[in-house]
Amino acid sequence: MKLNIKDTFNKELPSDTNLDNTRRQVFKATHSYVMPKVPSGSKLIHVSKEMAKSIGLNEKDLKSTDFLNVFSGAKIQPKTKPYAMAYAGHQFGNWAGQLGDGRAINLFEIEHNKKRWALQLKGAGETPYSRQGDGLAVLRSSIREYLCSEAMHHLGVPTTRALSLMLSGDDVLRDMLYDGNADYEKGAIVCRVAATFIRFGNFELFAARKDVKNLKQLTDYTIKYFYPELGKPLKDTYIKFFKEVANRTLDMIIHWQRVGFVHGVMNTDNMSILGLTIDYGPYGWLEDFDFGWTPNTTDRQNKRYRYGNQPNIGLWNLLQLANALYPLVEDPEPFETILNDYQKDFEVKSLNMMCAKLGLKLQDENDSKLMTDLEDCLLLSETDMTIFFRLLSDYKKGNSELGVEIVNDAFYKLDDIKNEVLEQWKGWFKTYDQRLQLEELTDQQRQVKMNLVNPKYVLRNYMAQLAIDDADKGDYNLINELFELLKQPYSEQPENEKWFAKRPDWARHKVGCSMLSCSS
Ligand code: AMP
Ligand code: MG
Repeated sequence: MKLNIKDTFNKELPSDTNLDNTRRQVFKATHSYVMPKVPSGSKLIHVSKEMAKSIGLNEKDLKSTDFLNVFSGAKIQPKTKPYAMAYAGHQFGNWAGQLGDGRAINLFEIEHNKKRWALQLKGAGETPYSRQGDGLAVLRSSIREYLCSEAMHHLGVPTTRALSLMLSGDDVLRDMLYDGNADYEKGAIVCRVAATFIRFGNFELFAARKDVKNLKQLTDYTIKYFYPELGKPLKDTYIKFFKEVANRTLDMIIHWQRVGFVHGVMNTDNMSILGLTIDYGPYGWLEDFDFGWTPNTTDRQNKRYRYGNQPNIGLWNLLQLANALYPLVEDPEPFETILNDYQKDFEVKSLNMMCAKLGLKLQDENDSKLMTDLEDCLLLSETDMTIFFRLLSDYKKGNSELGVEIVNDAFYKLDDIKNEVLEQWKGWFKTYDQRLQLEELTDQQRQVKMNLVNPKYVLRNYMAQLAIDDADKGDYNLINELFELLKQPYSEQPENEKWFAKRPDWARHKVGCSMLSCSS
């Protein structure tokens, strides 16, 4: 197995001088060296061949013992020094102090085809940042991260990727519902991949400690490797950097809103400095369209991270990043301008995204109203978001009377669609039809365009759970089936039509399907 190792993070940034793997506060360092735990009996469950190719591995490599050993943490690749990153963060709106990679261990960075990749193992044992945790991950949450991060990539949503999913052979004790019923589960290790795993929280850590020297060094490093187009490290560059991070964060969240993804734990330690979706924990997919929905039972009371609040939280998190970067600029105004622009940009980008979902190319002054009226309709009764938008592309201009019928399959209870509800829907289709008359696209052209932004297949919560239930019994076929299905989420796949269906009734209140905790 040949890898073009090009480490920069642990070579150019200050490391913790303490080499003991003991839990502690780490100062003046971006990372601590730590060895992954050697698993008792690793077994490869799945590998993303596409990701493997991107880092320069071929089919033969994937079958090698080296691959199994390196990506399970059993063996260290020569001339590399694994490490855990130090970061802090705001969790659920409160300052949480030092957090860090408590169960992620970075192996190395690779350069392939002029692209830089950092590889890290999630669930490979304790680190100085593990706090009360064991540094391990269970199979269920590892399957969820593995499948979803690759699915998001194929949906065109900026995200960290996944290379491999392995069993560790070790049992892990978890209290899944935090109700005092702890039990042993199978341990697993996912190898995650991204250009870098640096988060907002890495900057917050130094800022909170007034360690401007290291704050600057980390920022300069980030710009040098990941935003080189911004130029030399000067005050103006830091402002441009913040602007770019704000843009990318907003774009990522607009994508989430488009496909109905709810992250579930948008703490600042889970916000990538590259605007990538990162840390797949108790995430979920909207089934019935509901701004108030969150999959995370830990957030059930306040619903801070509910679907409709994600754009606001993006802004709140960016404010924390602005505070962290402030010492490098010492002028609040440019930050304020950028944060104000985020709100304005959100309005524009959100409307554009909705227009694309509806197949509207031109702009019209009544479009905002058309969207809010549609949202009102979608909230009238349980309506499946994915199915609704996909079926809407079958709509033919001049047939508003047939509109509701076309999207019938999206309604969870068809019986609800009568009287005023039906009238409201009919009214909306009438306006939609009038709006479509302004457009030049034919029905067919519009359908093609709509089907590129409205996925047919997403990783519904119950689908991941079915794959988990099978995997628990040692059957990994469904993991593979879903992995392949989700490689082409926008394509018609007649043989897979069964996955283009509403959530089955049994999954409505099942743990793992609609309810997830942070326990993983
Ligand atoms: P999360 O909410 O999953 O992003 O995690 C928040 C913090 O807790 C991060 O610093 C994680 O590294 C840490 N953490 C989560 N689970 C574990 C675990 N099992 N062992 C050690 N640290 C953990
Ligand atoms: Mg995290």
